[in-house]
Amino acid sequence: MEQEHDPASGLADPDASGLADPNVAGLADPNVAGLADPDVAGLADPDASGLADPDVSGLADPDVAAVLDWWTVNARDLPWRASRDIYAVWVAEVMSAQTTVIRSAGAWVRWMERWPTVEAVAAASLAQVLVQWQGLGYPRRARDLHRSARIVVESGWPADLTELPGVGAYVAAAVRCFALEEPVLPLDVNVKRVLQRRFSGGVDISGDPWRAGQAFMEFGQRICSVRPRCEVCPVREGCAGPGDPADRPAIRRQRPFAGSMRQRRGQLLRRVIAEGAVALEDADREAAAGLAEDGLVMLADARLLVPE
Ligand code: SF4
Repeated sequence: MEQEHDPASGLADPDASGLADPNVAGLADPNVAGLADPDVAGLADPDASGLADPDVSGLADPDVAAVLDWWTVNARDLPWRASRDIYAVWVAEVMSAQTTVIRSAGAWVRWMERWPTVEAVAAASLAQVLVQWQGLGYPRRARDLHRSARIVVESGWPADLTELPGVGAYVAAAVRCFALEEPVLPLDVNVKRVLQRRFSGGVDISGDPWRAGQAFMEFGQRICSVRPRCEVCPVREGCAGPGDPADRPAIRRQRPFAGSMRQRRGQLLRRVIAEGAVALEDADREAAAGLAEDGLVMLADARLLVPE
């Protein structure tokens, strides 16, 4: 699964089951998808934020360097940017791929406090993981994280992270860039948009891969967004702009959450977690079938249980 930041909703799979209200799981306007005030996050020590010396950039292309310069001044203060740990970066990317940065940041801090290592989360039960995941939505991500953690503990990290359940090309590239500092630009929809509009020949981030990778991600989210802020763009010179609005793909609007299968599944999963078991005859059968098919509940003695 290639996990991408949807420009319209921030949600890659609107059909997936969630525990959270999608109206807070994503943002309609990608231009406000970030923390306007970095201090609002208040989650990381600014000195450990991962924002390295802005003067040390080995980027060959001045336009790429200009994007990095913009980011160096405007970067959000996100807690995971202080880490280069594969597990920590992986958790951050999975959380933030389908949930707002604000919500993911707090959840990531709490997750890392509880399970600071992949061994720790592998030793937890799925029920514990699903409880911890509540509020983030799309609990199949939590299930896949848990499954993957157990595989890693048993067999080690695979050279190709996409071999792990739920890890797509985007998350694998993000881990290589943001944990291993390899010159691999993670291509979510925001970065793809920037490349299409302004860097059609591609970008070389090898001179400063971690910071340039972060810069392009955030630049695509906040400046060269679906509705770009060309007036403040540091690389507007030489850019033909976003093109005719009529030619742009329509922003995908999320379907109403109220009454949706996502809501029904979320409600039932919360019940099963809270009560430990729910009699099938008292449950929403259609939602139960979907949860069971996804491995989020199991059926035993006509009751729905959270699997270990
Ligand atoms: S000028 Fe506008 S379209 Fe071009 S890169 Fe900057 S924000 Fe994007």
